[in-house]
Amino acid sequence: MTEKQFANYKSNFRSPITPIELKEKLDKYIVGQERAKKILSVSVYNHYKRIIHKDSSPTEIQKSNIMMIGPTGSGKTLLAQTLSKVLNLPIAITDATTLTESGYVGDDVENVLLRLIQSANMNIDLAEIGIVYIDEIDKIARKSENVSITRDVSGEGVQQALLKIVEGSVISVPPNGGRKYPGQECLEIDTSNILFILGGAFEGIEKIIERRVNRKSIGFSKTEKKRDAILKEVIPQDLIKFGIIPELVGRTPIISPLEEVDRDMLIKILTQPKNSLISQYKELLSMDGVELSFDPKALEGIADKALERKTGARGLRAIVENIMLDVMFKVPSDKDIKKVIITEKSIEDTNEIKLIRSVS
Ligand code: ADP
Repeated sequence: MTEKQFANYKSNFRSPITPIELKEKLDKYIVGQERAKKILSVSVYNHYKRIIHKDSSPTEIQKSNIMMIGPTGSGKTLLAQTLSKVLNLPIAITDATTLTESGYVGDDVENVLLRLIQSANMNIDLAEIGIVYIDEIDKIARKSENVSITRDVSGEGVQQALLKIVEGSVISVPPNGGRKYPGQECLEIDTSNILFILGGAFEGIEKIIERRVNRKSIGFSKTEKKRDAILKEVIPQDLIKFGIIPELVGRTPIISPLEEVDRDMLIKILTQPKNSLISQYKELLSMDGVELSFDPKALEGIADKALERKTGARGLRAIVENIMLDVMFKVPSDKDIKKVIITEKSIEDTNEIKLIRSVS
């Protein structure tokens, strides 16, 4: 990152992208999740507005870190990544289960910041306005609310360690990762303007919400899944009940639920987003002068297979890669092939893939 590039970043922030513009950009990459995209667009806009007007505003505006609640493969990581891409900001993504309290075996929480600095090409000023996404935060919930004998203190320790960086303070980070040791020259990074996004599936939180609200007051339409409808009612107290420490919940005031990815969404995810799996394969084959098409029934078949795996849209990649392997292997050395059609039957048997050759 050159000085000039950094100056450009700063001037971008003087007129930040509006929430509507930001959502339109997210729409290009993320299928559905309308509410989550709206919540994120508004809070990210406010976040960067807060940074710009920090010195001139008489009211101190609280930082809007975000907690995303949604099942595996619903697009939480993708949302965080896409934000970083469209805002042109560095991002560090980590999994809470790999983090440890200082002094234990594992990845120290500070190393997340090192990754952010690296993602900003060692430009600390830029890293200080970057994004940190921490996945699987629900897996480090303390268990004491439900489990009486084996009180899980390690999860709580990591939460405390995370709190230190999320709160916003100057943190010293060992420049080469790993442990800090005395006398070592550390990088200093102020985390007050870093946008922290925490995410997790929070399996079972719907029971906590249901217990709190009047069941009958939760209306859901036929097209909406029950869990999705309940999740919309989530409030910070529910996260505390689940086992996230109150201080950390307090630091993530924006809660954004994501819906479970259904069959229709899976089909769209395959084809619609910019860089969708299938458009990538189309592009790759077109470089060999070959046209690729999927029968609509084939797309449905792939979606059904992904549904069985219960990993949201995460399962799609492996299924499609499996189908495409033979094609990608053979096509480059068979110059006569002009078109490849993936039929419904090819989902189970790749011999059913239609290869159309030019008649010469
Ligand atoms: P999560 O973090 O919620 O477990 P990810 O964001 O890692 O899920 O999603 C896994 C993959 O599935 C992504 O790489 C993306 O290709 C796809 N995906 C998931 N949800 C969506 C969505 N709503 N729109 C487009 N692609 C999605």
